[in-house]
Amino acid sequence: MRATVLLRNAYNRSNTAAFIGLGAMGRGMAANLLDKSFAGSQGAWGAEAARKGERGAFVVYDAFPSALNQFLSSHTNAFAGRDVLPASSPAGATRLASTIVTMLPSSKEVEEVYLGENGIREALEGMSDEKRRETLLIDCTTGDREEAIRVAKEMESLGVKMVDAPVSGGVVGAEKGTLSFMVGGSEEAFAQAQPFLQKMGARYIHCGASGNGLAVKICNNLLLGISMIGTAEAMLLGKSLGLSSELLATVINTSTGRCWSSETNNPAPKATPTIPTPADRGYTGGFLSKLMSKDLNLALTSASRSGVPLPLGQLSGTLYQKLSAHEEFAGRDFSVVYRYLEEAMEGGFGEKSGKKGE
Ligand code: NAD
Repeated sequence: MRATVLLRNAYNRSNTAAFIGLGAMGRGMAANLLDKSFAGSQGAWGAEAARKGERGAFVVYDAFPSALNQFLSSHTNAFAGRDVLPASSPAGATRLASTIVTMLPSSKEVEEVYLGENGIREALEGMSDEKRRETLLIDCTTGDREEAIRVAKEMESLGVKMVDAPVSGGVVGAEKGTLSFMVGGSEEAFAQAQPFLQKMGARYIHCGASGNGLAVKICNNLLLGISMIGTAEAMLLGKSLGLSSELLATVINTSTGRCWSSETNNPAPKATPTIPTPADRGYTGGFLSKLMSKDLNLALTSASRSGVPLPLGQLSGTLYQKLSAHEEFAGRDFSVVYRYLEEAMEGGFGEKSGKKGE
């Protein structure tokens, strides 16, 4: 409480940004935003701003204190003397910061953070029109498109700007600041978001109106989920026919079967010796099966709303759902579908798994 009073007096909201959701993706994105904002000469947090009394801060919030504390402790040294401050709720963060980036697990948490008790809307409702007008909300969560449109409409009805800006590039991209953002929202909101997206990613594409960033992301991940299963099937069949994984991957990757799943994230271990993959390290350090299952569900929900048949999407969704309910596979890279099929082929699947998903 005391900290909040101090902050309100000490910092200029217009030059303050907040980051909510410091998980696997958010912690790297927040670190880049913080680092590049402080290091930049444009002035949001520079010496000139401080001299003019326009000094901004960087505000962070996570529902889990351990995530918040981990971020604060790991950035205390790196950003010594800089103004990194914890908020006690999304509403608290909104009172302090005019730009808020959220990176949450799913639409359920987006609803809580934006529309729930002590949420962003609650803080905005108590604010002047001028403060609302300067507010920009950037939601990077991969969530349901319709839900995102509904939240954005609620926010826009209060006079604030909002974009959906889901990402591709994974945890490594978040840490390195090389993410790609797919952005939905008005031209004006997109323009205002660009300087922030630039600090967290290498590419940002305006995909059209609110919800369109998510539409693009969901279609991409539908294709990715299907192509990974296709690659796993081809690699497994090749192995059973006596081919080495390396030979088969080399030929596929110079032929018509080539795709990201065969080339960069091949599901068969040691298939691409010059490109290390999650499969080479026990399917760790990639995009989790349970997240792919969530994204396939988002695609299937969108498709059923618009009456589009997704026969392969449906089959793939069922397979990722099995992986995500399985204790051995849920927390591994989604290319572990190769291992899942291999175990099914070997018939050893039933004994080993402990079987949450069967
Ligand atoms: P995560 O679970 O690691 O992080 C989410 C964070 O949000 C956690 O720290 C959690 O404590 C926090 N949180 C949950 N509920 C909250 C609330 N009500 N208020 C404040 N904070 C709350 O998830 P992640 O891997 O960082 O993924 C985030 C989003 O990015 C997801 O939508 C995911 O689909 C998407 N995504 C993830 C990857 C990836 O490789 N992990 C890649 C692309 C997109």
